[in-house]
Formats: sequence, structure tokens, C-alpha cells
Amino acid sequence: SDIMFKNPNYVYGPEDRYVPAKLNAGEFILQNIWQFKDTVALINGATDEKLTYGEMAQEAMNLAVSLVRLGVRRGDVVAICAENRREFWSTVIGVICAGAVVTTVNMIYTRDELKHVMGITKPKYMFCSPLALKFQANNFRSLEYVKKFIVYGDEKIPNMLSYKDLALAGPAAKLSQNVKYEDFNVVDVEGQNDSAMILYSSGTTGLPKGVMITHLNILTATASTVERPKFVSLTITPWYHTMGLMSHLIGFVKGTTTVYLPKFEVELYLKTIEKFQISQLTVVPPVLVALCKSSLKYDVSSVLIIASGAAPLHKETILAVHKRFPNAQAVVQGYGMTETTLVVTFNSSGEKEGSVGQVNSNTIVKIVDPDTRKVLGPNQNGEICIKGAMVMKGYIGKKRQDDFDEEGFFKTGDIGYYDEDKYFYIVDRLKELIKYKGYQVAPAELEAVLLKHEAVRDVGVVGVPHPSAGEVPLAFVVPQPGAETTEVELQQFVAERLSNPKHLRGGVRFVEAIPKTLTGKILRKELRKIVKSTKSKL
Ligand code: AMP
Repeated sequence: SDIMFKNPNYVYGPEDRYVPAKLNAGEFILQNIWQFKDTVALINGATDEKLTYGEMAQEAMNLAVSLVRLGVRRGDVVAICAENRREFWSTVIGVICAGAVVTTVNMIYTRDELKHVMGITKPKYMFCSPLALKFQANNFRSLEYVKKFIVYGDEKIPNMLSYKDLALAGPAAKLSQNVKYEDFNVVDVEGQNDSAMILYSSGTTGLPKGVMITHLNILTATASTVERPKFVSLTITPWYHTMGLMSHLIGFVKGTTTVYLPKFEVELYLKTIEKFQISQLTVVPPVLVALCKSSLKYDVSSVLIIASGAAPLHKETILAVHKRFPNAQAVVQGYGMTETTLVVTFNSSGEKEGSVGQVNSNTIVKIVDPDTRKVLGPNQNGEICIKGAMVMKGYIGKKRQDDFDEEGFFKTGDIGYYDEDKYFYIVDRLKELIKYKGYQVAPAELEAVLLKHEAVRDVGVVGVPHPSAGEVPLAFVVPQPGAETTEVELQQFVAERLSNPKHLRGGVRFVEAIPKTLTGKILRKELRKIVKSTKSKL
């Protein structure tokens, strides 16, 4: 029957990635960066502190041995809670080499947010920075499954181990000398099944979940055969998020030098471009908006490539970017998500601006009608579904069939189409996720918090478009009869309980009822319609 013929409506990416059969992703990364051991891997743009690939690899190997000697075993989860800093990558690579699973967490999370995500993976060990300790010291005490904390930097903290003691040869690491690259052996794993990382995403609905990224996922993402010119790259995207994690690992195996800054600040950013003659910028759209709005004069003629991801990039922004960075050959836009490890589509030379480009290697995409699940052809909007070697294994504790269709395609919850030339466009979101400056905001999380307020009887949260942030969350609230509250009070209530991106910047609207389906699911489409219609009346 037809089953033996290619479906003309499936869009296939090129097949240019070959994955080594020895399936510990840490081994592959280590092998690659070791070739560049004398190259500078990282520069802290604010302090000029440098780290070579040799140092990164050495500390990763030492750390892996120390962790195994401490009792870390294959499959154990090890967390990192820190700002972007030099020890981060040796930790990621070291943990993966030890056969353990890396999980990363946002340092500015509130207690409840931290407890929620850490409760999913229950790490046994946690690396943290002194700055993270400042925010989280009290909250860390409530994570009873964490056996040991390991602190970055020079500070000695009572009852905690220090990174230096484990990653540098010495008595604490039980290493009389550095581990030799030639003698080092990673812990054997089943790379197609074992997670190398667990990241968090709310997916199509509900609270953040644990996304299982296997060794094979990471190997496929990093094993591109495409040669990259030696770029100096500047990043400020947080490393705990998939975009930061993956774009760096890919740059590392190619020997890229990366300059990073602790946080985004327009003037320092522009100054850094000038000082280090940066050739590639990796950003989220709001950063580009801010850069284009600033009239500060710095020499940015070195910038050749700008890579943007994590949220939609508007045409007007792209035009403004070309004015701001006159030598930029392309504003490369990628479309991807935590669940797909890397970009699903990307626009490599910036052609067809506004498009998120063509399908990535080792990936198959189909567009389906969200109601009938029928596969659609070009220029028809539908749900984007993805299959390939970079798609996650699944969410922790969730059945695969909830998120994958019967052919094994992952249902993204994004709405889009492709044109005659197989260029993709993202047009809408079926899933409830809100993206504030590229950060994930799960409406269910805000709703759970607001329902705790005594004056709130029912609530539905949606995103409203915002010119520079992308979207901001807005709450429709049904007040409890007799109780009194105000917009400001509810905004404060949320601000005290959830981290900054989740604050109710879109405001509160009091309504009589929240539109729901017969089964009680919030009809967010209806709520979004109300937002739109009241906007156009203004
Ligand atoms: P995250 O897992 O945090 O990276 O969020 C992934 C989601 O961000 C996707 O499912 C999309 O809804 C959205 N997204 C990512 N990249 C783009 C893009 N280039 N254009 C539009 N939306 C995007």
C-alpha cells in the first residue's frame, strides 16, 4: 500500500550528522575540546578572566573522578544553580562523563519554584555559586534529598565542599596529580536511553516538567559536520536554559572563543563588542530591540552574524538590526525548544526574513490539522510536529502518548506553516505557554498562586503581546463574593511568590466567569479574544 512511499508533505532535514557509537556525550565533547587545549574557550567580558579549553577539559576530568569517588553513580542527578561563570562548563562536562545527569536551575527562583523543579529530579549533589547562596541559602535547606553542596569560587562554606578541592589535583580530590587525558575513561552509559541532562519546560500545558535529554540527543546536536569559521562569539543568554547550554556545547566542539557577560546592560554589551572585536552575537529578540533603540556610539563593525532564538523576531526588528550592525551578513533566526535539544528549523543566511528557516539535520517536520490530525501541505497553518534524533526521550513521569503521536512525532503546541520552498513560519501558539523576553511563563503556575489569594474565586492567565518583551502575563480574575481586592494587590501577591518574568505585567481584569470547556479546561483562546477585542476598541 501507500505506506512504502514517501509522504510528500513531510519535510526532511539534511542527513549530515554521524554519531559515534561510543555513546557518552561527555567523551565526545572532551575529545573535541582537547584538540583546542591551547585556545581560549571563555572570557568574562566584565573581568577579562580567561579559561582555555585545556583548563576546561582538565577540570572536567578531575571533577568526574572526584564525583565518582564521592559516590556519584550512573543516573544520579547533579544540579547546578549559578550565574554564568567559569566553573559551569567543566561541571556540565564532568558530570556527564561520570555517567550522571546534569540539571540546571535558575538562580533567582523563589522557594516554591525551586522546590517544584528540584522535586522532579531530586538531585543528590548540587553545585552553586556564592551569589546563588545569597539568594537561596534558606531555600536550599528545604531540599532534603541533596546530600552535598559544592561551592564555586574561593570561599570556604561550613558543611559544603568546594569546587576547587574537587576539580584541581590535591588531597581533597584524592588526586596526587591531574588526571591524564590519555588515561581517562568516561563511565559507560546506554546513550540512547540514559539522560545526560534534565531541563524544565511546561510543554503544552500545566506546570514545568522534567525534559529528559539523552546522551544521543546531545551527541546528535553537537556532531554537526558543518565547518565553522573561527568566530569570537558574545553571549548573555543564561546558561541554565537550553539555548545557552546547547549553543555553547556546539561552539566548544568547534573551538569557538566565547565572551560572556554576567548580565545584559546595553553600554557594557556594546563596549564588549568593540573591545573583543566580536563576530557573532547570540541573543533573544528583546536584546536586539534594546540594542537598536540605543544611540550609544561604539564600533560594532566586527559583527558579521547575529543569531536569535527562543521567541519570535519581528520584521521591523530585523530591519533595524541591519541599520545598527551594518556589516552583519545575516540575522539568523532559529526555532526550537527545550524538548528538541536544538533548533528544529533555522534560517542560516537570513533569506526570507521573518521565516524561521528550513529543517535542521536529522529532523523530520510535519504540519497537522490540530482537530483532525490530518497532515497538511504547504501554506496551510497547523500544529508543528517533530521527529528526529534530537527530540527528547519524554517528560519525567508522563506517558509518551500524551505528547507524541502514533508515528512518534512530538506535538509542539506551536502553530505554523511552510511555503513552497520549505521555509517555515511560526504564526501562533496552541499551547498555553507565555514567553516573556524568551523566559518560559506557565499560566498554570500563576493560576495556582492566585487561587491561594482569599479574594480570588477563579482565575485564567494568558499572555498579551508587548512591543519589547514579546508577551506579558495578564490574569482574568473572578472575585470571591463579598471579598475585596485590587489589581495592584494581586500583582504584589504574585510578585512576592514568583520570580521576575512571571510577574503580572499585563495587569488584572475582573470578570464574572472564566470561559471553560465542559470538562473544566480554561478556554484560553476565548480569553485571548477578549484581550484582542478590548484592545482594538481603545
Ligand atoms: P523554550 O523551551 O523555553 O525554548 O521555549 C520553546 C518555545 O518558544 C517554542 O515552542 C515556541 O513557542 C517559542 N519559540 C522558540 N523559538 C521561536 C521562534 N524563533 N519564533 C517563535 N516562537 C519561538
